[in-house]
This record gives sequence, C-alpha cells and structure tokens, in this order.
Amino acid sequence: MKHAPYLLYSDGEGHIFEDTSLYVCGRSGWDAMPLENEEWIKLPKGGQLYELPNRRGIGIDVKSGEMRLCEKGWAVASFIPPAFTGTYLAAYETLPGAETLPLFCYTAAGWYNEKFYVTAIRIEKDIRQESEGFDESKIEQGVEKLLKTYRHNRLVQHLANNCCLTYHCPAARNYFMGRWECPVPSSPACNANCIGCISFQPQEETITSTQDRLQFKPTAEEIVEYTVPHLETAPFPIVSFGQGCEGEPLLMWQTIKMAIKEIRKHTQKGSININTNGSDPKAVKTLCEAGLNSIRVSTNSAREKIYTPYYRPNNYEFNDIVESLKVVNSFGGWTSINYFVFPGMTDSVEEYEALRKLIKETGLKMIQWRNFNIDPDWYLRKIDVTDTGECIGIRQMMTLLQEEFPTLKFGYFNPSMERITGNFEMDYAGS
Ligand code: SF4
Repeated sequence: MKHAPYLLYSDGEGHIFEDTSLYVCGRSGWDAMPLENEEWIKLPKGGQLYELPNRRGIGIDVKSGEMRLCEKGWAVASFIPPAFTGTYLAAYETLPGAETLPLFCYTAAGWYNEKFYVTAIRIEKDIRQESEGFDESKIEQGVEKLLKTYRHNRLVQHLANNCCLTYHCPAARNYFMGRWECPVPSSPACNANCIGCISFQPQEETITSTQDRLQFKPTAEEIVEYTVPHLETAPFPIVSFGQGCEGEPLLMWQTIKMAIKEIRKHTQKGSININTNGSDPKAVKTLCEAGLNSIRVSTNSAREKIYTPYYRPNNYEFNDIVESLKVVNSFGGWTSINYFVFPGMTDSVEEYEALRKLIKETGLKMIQWRNFNIDPDWYLRKIDVTDTGECIGIRQMMTLLQEEFPTLKFGYFNPSMERITGNFEMDYAGS
C-alpha cells in the first residue's frame, strides 16, 4: 500500500463514495487516529458496508496532514464477517440528535486501488460460516425433511421457522445442511441484563434485539430426539446449548443434564458444548459429571469493573464465571471465552494484564475474538468509561499473548472434538 485508504462517505440514500481529499482514520476507545498501512485488508466476502446517519467521518487531509471531518455525507463503517476480528472501529463524530446504532459491529473501512479495505485480521480457519458455503436448495430440502421427521418437536420447528428461515442463523442453516455445529436453545429466561442483549431489549431502549427470545422450555426428550442423529451423522459434529435466540441455558441445567446423559447413552461421537454467561459453577459441575465436553463463557472484559456495568447480573458475580471455567478445566474439558472485542477497551494495558491473570488462573484453552456488536458511543457511555487508558493495539495484544501462552488457541468458533483432540489447525474444507 502506497498510502492509507481514502475515507468513505454516503449520501444518506445508500450510495457510498470515496473522498480522495481525506485518508481514513481508525478509532480506539474515544480516540480517532491515523493507522499503519499493515492494519488494512481487503473487505472479506460476506462483509457489508453501513452508512451511519448523523455521523461525520474523521480523516487526515491528504495535502495538509490535518485531521478533519468529511462534510460531504454520513460516515461509513463495515460489518465484517465471522472468522475476522476487527482491530479498529470506524472514526466519526456523532452529531446532536443522532439515534443509537443497531446491534452490529462498526469496523473502520476505506477505499484503495478500486477496492474496499477494512482493519481486520482473519483469526479463524474454520469455514463454517462462510457466506458462499451455504446452499439454499440443500437448506430448503433439509428443512422440509426434518420438519416431517420431527413434526411434533417444538425445538426443530423453532430452529426451522424462526432461526433458519427468518433470522438466517448460520448455526441453524448448518444443522439443516446436516453438518458441523447444531444449535440447542433451551432457556426463555436470563439472570443477566446485558446492555447489548441480542435476544431482549427493554421497552425504554430505542434499539431492537436482533432476534426474539425462545417462548417455551423444551423437554430433554425433544433435545435428544434431533441431536443424537446429528452427532451420529454430521461431519465434525458439535451440539451447542446457549444460542442467540434464548436467555441463559444454565437456568435450564436440570433439563440439559438429563439430555446430556441420554445423548451419551446413544452416542459417544462429537462434542457437547454450552455457550453461557457462566453464572452458576455448581450447575456447570453437574453438567460436566453428566458428560459436557466444552464450555464457552461470554464476556466483554476480564475486569470485574467493566464486566458488571455491562452484564448487570441478577444473582451472580464476575468471580462465578471464573469459577465455571476452572470447573470445566478440572474435568479436562475444553474452555473458551467468547471475548467481545472493542478496540480501545480490549487492548488497554489494564485489560491485557487482567486477561493474562484470567488465562493463568483458569487454564483457559481458547480465546474466541468476537466482534462486539454494539454502538461504540452508546456502550462507553452506558458503562461510564470516559478514558480507556493506554492501549497496545489488538494485533500486538494477540502477538504478546501467543508468545506468553503458546498452547492457547485463537479462533472465532467452538472447535469440534476432532480439533480438540487432534490437529487443531485442520479446516473443514470438503466436509
Ligand atoms: S447473558 Fe445472553 S441472554 Fe442474558 S442478557 Fe446477556 S446477552 Fe442476553
């Protein structure tokens, strides 16, 4: 790259243009800054561009080198696809009266050499959510066949009609294509009140949740009925409790315990995983005794003071999620964190130190570096952060952690048993 990409702006009607008088900046925390050329990669397939109403992009004047606003239109950001982690946010100034942005990620984007560029890193080789990997006709056939096969199963009905055909959930689409990770939502309720919850947003908030929360409690029989055949027949099979269309699965631990026991009576294949807020280490212990293989605990931070104002837990505390990771580790299970990456918060020196401590304390196996789908201004205001402190950069943080913890895995998705027990670097091409 001979120079930084040019800034992008929109005319407010969905048309995007480059402003060749400005090089685009990135954002970290509350700060806009020029970036190293190495930060930029071509916009990956499946990535999208968003115009940000009532927001002006911040760039570096090509001639003067001064930082200034683009007055030609609204700012533009990218919603990068899964498997890629954003290293800088889009830099813009929010004008008075601007509405809160919906629950997507807003990665820095620019234009260079007739192409769109973003600040991101491919963190995961696994192809399970590559947009071009989804075959619509196979999905439709799968939905038709499995709705017939499990006509009385409310969970399969939910996965078909809501998750697959309405929300276009990649996990549900993979299930109906008979491959890889199969979702098992189970809980209509939650014991946390996350600011950016994707399944429930309080009335007083102006943004909406991206999917509706499950409205019923499935039985262990309903769970076992469709998950055993998936584990038996799918390549690299995983069944995962804890999905975006439900509350907290640990609130359903009795049902999940019965389901896991029953599943393992029928098959030893694949991995049984739970995506959770990790709030109840006792319940986690019971699930490990039943046969749970893997846990992914979601968190926006390894620091209690940043975690608590975001999760607003009802009847648990930050240390409970740490305990849940330790419990699974003590059973020899696979432990991941679903780490919401927010440039300027995640890569602050304080967060880096807290994460090192968490990794050592819990014997953590994997960090899933997930893009934080939230309006940056809204998030920082809600958790009352005015100064994020000194930052080291997301890429630098990953490098330092990898050097200090060489066996610690990085990725974006829950690994299959084949990767956990075998060659972790394998990818699923051709499966
Ligand atoms: S833990 Fe999950 S379901 Fe519960 S409030 Fe947070 S995001 Fe929503």
